[in-house]
Amino acid sequence: MSTVHRNTKQKEAILRILKGTTSHPTADCIYEQVRREIPNISLGTVYRNLRLLKQEGNILELSLAGSFSRFDANTKNHYHFRCELCGRIFDLDEPVDKEIDKRVARKTGFTVTQHRLEFRGLCIDCQRSDSPESLKKYLGLT
Ligand code: ZN
Ligand code: MN
Repeated sequence: MSTVHRNTKQKEAILRILKGTTSHPTADCIYEQVRREIPNISLGTVYRNLRLLKQEGNILELSLAGSFSRFDANTKNHYHFRCELCGRIFDLDEPVDKEIDKRVARKTGFTVTQHRLEFRGLCIDCQRSDSPESLKKYLGLT
């Protein structure tokens, strides 16, 4: 197989995996899945393709200092909720507020193209967690 063809195949497999999930997986998690399909793929190749897909505007990278980037094939602006205990990221069914862009533009004179918003807290599973120790720690009760 030609190099170009192989590269395309790898990139397409990664994009397909991302399009098939709303779990906002890490590069490692994507690597584990794509390996089932392309067993000899390397983690470096996965990273390179994620970078390319991001540059091409096909995916979003959700990065947060001190934690691994998460990836999202839904490139339409939407809000997220990040659980501070388990680290999962959920899509929110919440309309994007266009007024805030206009308000900030009016106040600053900046041209605002979009805003990103991430809510934080505890997901349902973690609220019901059978691991009360980590929950207590999160709430600062220990
Ligand atoms: Zn959680
Ligand atoms: Mn998302």
